[in-house]
Amino acid sequence: TRVFTSTGKHFDADVVIGADGFSSAVRKYISPEIKPKYSGYVGWRGISEELKLSDNFRRNLFSHYAFLFLPQSLLIGYPIAGSNGSIEVGSRRYNYLWYYPTTKEKLKNLLTDKQGYFHSDGIPPSLIEGEHITDIIKIANKIMPKNFIDIVTKASTTMFQPIYDVMSEKIVSENIVLIGDAAFVARPHVGIGVLKAAQDAVSLANALIDNSATSDALKTYALERFEPGRQAVIHGRNLGSFIEQRLDKPEDELHLNLPPERIIRVSGRPYEHVVEQGL
Ligand SMILES: Cc1cc2nc3c(=O)[nH]c(=O)nc-3n(C[C@H](O)[C@H](O)[C@H](O)COP(=O)(O)OP(=O)(O)OC[C@H]3O[C@@H](n4cnc5c(N)ncnc54)[C@H](O)[C@@H]3O)c2cc1C
Repeated sequence: TRVFTSTGKHFDADVVIGADGFSSAVRKYISPEIKPKYSGYVGWRGISEELKLSDNFRRNLFSHYAFLFLPQSLLIGYPIAGSNGSIEVGSRRYNYLWYYPTTKEKLKNLLTDKQGYFHSDGIPPSLIEGEHITDIIKIANKIMPKNFIDIVTKASTTMFQPIYDVMSEKIVSENIVLIGDAAFVARPHVGIGVLKAAQDAVSLANALIDNSATSDALKTYALERFEPGRQAVIHGRNLGSFIEQRLDKPEDELHLNLPPERIIRVSGRPYEHVVEQGL
């Protein structure tokens, strides 16, 4: 197969591996009909310096991985190292990710800068219009418990990522193969995107070592990795469904099987563990 790059070079390859992430050009080539699906919500994110947070928060909450269930939304927060990598008390930071429902029209607005330019692939934090940040801070003040508001209002940078997923119908086409986010993108609730990408890479490498014929190797890889990728997307859709459906409480729709304790138990776990351990 001959691969042409945007700079006009070309390469001849026995196997072309698309490891080019969420917006994969290789996926677009083998499956032009597969499009990222918007979840109906964005993830607002911010990082605060430890010493800027209230005494109460630092004493009682800082060291915890927190799940904060809010009407129609979910915030997760956790401590991270300081910008210099330090984990000394006083020099650490607290990171939050707040999934918040956002219509497609509102999203278009959020992704458009002051000059009217629409950043379809994500807007740099410095170009997000101030009024959107003011709005999200107002909402935090209205719906969050007092001791959590600080992590939103005192964050040094506030940004957001629209939450999409990608459900591929194939991950191999002749001698072209997709791995990682190029193959499947699960909503970040599953927290296993990096693990999945690594497992895909190991599986493909082993299949190429174990099979002398490339076509057999790629068949073996697809058999091993298609289903875990598909399940990760389904698992992510389930975990985010209460935000997408704007339920005030995740347990409000019984058929979703999302009592908060279960969301906490199964988030950040590969779906096969959830099934194996009956979580
Ligand atoms: C809000 C959010 C939170 C997340 N949290 C977690 C988490 O807690 N834990 C976790 O495991 N995962 C998390 N993820 C998912 C994780 O980031 C991805 O699943 C993971 O990075 C996928 O790895 P990848 O190598 O397939 O793709 P990427 O990391 O996207 O790498 C693709 C690479 O290809 C390059 N590339 C793209 N196009 C081209 C091209 N045309 N030519 C050359 N190079 C190209 C890119 O520059 C990039 O370097 C999160 C994702 C989001 C959106």
